Amino acid sequence: MSSAVEHRHAGSAPRIAVVGGGLSGLAAAAALAERGIPVTLFEARRRCGGRAASFEDPAAGGLVDACQHVAMGCCTNFLDLCRTAGLADALRRDRTLWFVGPDGSRAACTPSARLPAPLHLAPLLFALRHFSLVEKVVLGIGMMRLARCRDGDDPAGRSAAAWLRGHGQPRRVVELFWRPVLESALGESIDLVSVPAARKVVADAFLAHRDAADLYVPLEPLGGLFGVRLAAWLGRCGVEIRTGAAVTGLDRDPAGAVRGVSCGRDTLPCAAAIVAVPWRQAARLVPDLVPPADERLAGSPITAVHLWFDRDVVDLPHAVLVGRVSQWVFRGEGSAGRGYCQVVISASRGLLGGDRDGLLDTVVDEVRDVFPAARSARLVGSRIVTDPTAVLSVRPGVEVARPAAATRVPNLFLAGDWTATGWPSTMEGAVRSGRRAAEAVLEWCGRPQPVLTPDLPRALLARLLTGA
Ligand SMILES: Cc1cc2nc3c(=O)[nH]c(=O)nc-3n(C[C@H](O)[C@H](O)[C@H](O)COP(=O)(O)OP(=O)(O)OC[C@H]3O[C@@H](n4cnc5c(N)ncnc54)[C@H](O)[C@@H]3O)c2cc1C
Repeated sequence: MSSAVEHRHAGSAPRIAVVGGGLSGLAAAAALAERGIPVTLFEARRRCGGRAASFEDPAAGGLVDACQHVAMGCCTNFLDLCRTAGLADALRRDRTLWFVGPDGSRAACTPSARLPAPLHLAPLLFALRHFSLVEKVVLGIGMMRLARCRDGDDPAGRSAAAWLRGHGQPRRVVELFWRPVLESALGESIDLVSVPAARKVVADAFLAHRDAADLYVPLEPLGGLFGVRLAAWLGRCGVEIRTGAAVTGLDRDPAGAVRGVSCGRDTLPCAAAIVAVPWRQAARLVPDLVPPADERLAGSPITAVHLWFDRDVVDLPHAVLVGRVSQWVFRGEGSAGRGYCQVVISASRGLLGGDRDGLLDTVVDEVRDVFPAARSARLVGSRIVTDPTAVLSVRPGVEVARPAAATRVPNLFLAGDWTATGWPSTMEGAVRSGRRAAEAVLEWCGRPQPVLTPDLPRALLARLLTGA
């Protein structure tokens, strides 16, 4: 079996192949290259970035994100990668979350910069104008109870929605807070997600730290940010990036160890490989390590409705619309042009019975309802983009099906937002998975060292109150 030690004895540092140029593969390549390990990264598409992608829109005259992506303050690894690669200038930090109630009332929800976590959330909760005082208090109690809930507390494997109803959260609070907040964070319906997944959002993204709920919004198209700038930085770090290079198979010896990566007729020898592609593609490349038809690994759809009006209509940096079909509205930040805005709908399975015209009419009506400037504006263009398997559906039981970075084949590693990171399928989950795979490679090389950026430190009061 080939080993890193053999390669070192042969006088050359072991070359690691990374298959997949999404954020997981890019993060893995970065971590290894920064530690002096030669990496070749194979990406099937023309540009890296994977699902954090943009499309060329001739009318807009540039790149438009297939779907707006945002990160939060708790996404320490994603933010660290952006800082290290010099991309931090392209992320806007929004400390205020803008909620728009069913009656159109706007609430600027800003966590306190002075109160210790989790009390810093009090001003945020009290600003939610569409709730009564009692509902706000019940919501705060629900957050604490969910954060305190432990895995063994819910052996029935209930959905988050069932848990919330069973723990005294009124229907209005579930529909007008928990549903929009959890569904956008997890990308899946609260009727399907597990209690631990919901708990993670509340504990890590809200209660743990004063900065955890800050929103980071890319100011440049994702295709430029990750496909061009991040890839160029990796190139300067010494990573060889081959785009338009779909890996068709792994060359493995009789014992199963990887010897090379094949793209059609070409095979590049490598000492080890990280397979950083979504689970279906991974199942094709390494069927012995990823079961092909594992029903516990299912995708959840996200829909983006792109709207071009004849003038700018959105007068908020972002808005969380509650009690409507549209969940988030973002005004155009990239090169999508004047009058552009995007509406994002997570867990969009079976949305309005699949009626796309009906969906467009509904979304436009809602935008006009919420943003008065849109009422007199003319809609000059639109596009609906749905990714049917946008993210891994984090249902009860899914965690046991998510594989670790190290596999039973010593020189073959897995990465991707669907692997066992403890995080939902997000940019943070993807970067963590790549960094975990890099840690596993370093260990295999006989150079064990931590790569992951630590979580935000959990405030003492938050630890005491949530029992963490
Ligand atoms: C619509 C939508 C909205 C989202 N919104 C958010 C958000 O707001 N915030 C957030 O944090 N996350 C969001 N996500 C999730 C986020 O995009 C993903 O979690 C993350 O980008 C996954 O990265 P990855 O590297 O694991 O996989 P991918 O991005 O899927 O990358 C895998 C790469 O492997 C390549 N590949 C596949 N097969 C091969 C092969 N045989 N050879 C070579 N290359 C191959 C693919 O082309 C792809 O580039 C969203 C996702 C979608 C789809």
